[in-house]
Amino acid sequence: MRVKKQKSHRRTVRFFKACYGFREPFKVLCDGTFTHHLIANQIIPADDAVSRLLGGRVRLFATNCITEEIRSLGNSHSDTHRASQELITARCDHEEKRMNSVFCIESVIAEGNPEHFFVATQDSGLRRKLYEIPGTPVIYALKNCLMLDKPSEKQREFVKSSEEKRSHMTKLESDIVHAIKNKKGSSHPLDDVSEVESIHTLQTSGKNQRQNLGITDKPQFKRKRAKAPNPLSCKKKKVKVNSTLVNTNQSQNNNKDDAKSKRTRKRIKKKNEGSD
Ligand SMILES: [Zn+2]
Repeated sequence: MRVKKQKSHRRTVRFFKACYGFREPFKVLCDGTFTHHLIANQIIPADDAVSRLLGGRVRLFATNCITEEIRSLGNSHSDTHRASQELITARCDHEEKRMNSVFCIESVIAEGNPEHFFVATQDSGLRRKLYEIPGTPVIYALKNCLMLDKPSEKQREFVKSSEEKRSHMTKLESDIVHAIKNKKGSSHPLDDVSEVESIHTLQTSGKNQRQNLGITDKPQFKRKRAKAPNPLSCKKKKVKVNSTLVNTNQSQNNNKDDAKSKRTRKRIKKKNEGSD
């Protein structure tokens, strides 16, 4: 039974990776009910438990609205509040006025869940709402077990319909293809240029469609961090700095000498002029 569940969880993760562009480390937005359940049932460390569920590295998030809401519940939820504070803060637009966590989560994942959050909640009402939003997987807990909901009917339908759209040509694309076909016989060099341009428009229109779905063509790798500078180049720089300093000193001295000599020359000139 356990193996079956794990297989189904992995299948769900694969679905969201392939169709919505989810990537490791998976981001998991935990609301107060979920964090409280983890604490109450001693499912700790939480990130290990969630990463076992998703089969990959995870980062757990909470918004300030969620943490504030837990704090407002008082001393009975002080452990949950502390745990929520330790999570990474996900940005929301409610700095001035805190919102309730359901509203806050909905706003964070609005417009197709661009940040690719898994939402972890024990709130069945919120879960039902999330099933309606394409690209938002839901995690919940049953006693000591963590569960990942299968993609809802709506989420599957959305993927199917968008795949259908992508597999068919748009009117613009079919027009361009027809135009290319009609021009194929002609040997005018300008025709080749326009053909290249139209192929480019075809490519960009396809790209835009995929971007609207939040699907990336290539896997996202880690950002390249700046490495330590090449020690050889450092040495050279130091030498350069010294030499320039020396040079500037020298040039300053030269300038002074020049100024002095110029002055004397002027005097000489004046004297010469006077004598002449
Ligand atoms: Zn908020």
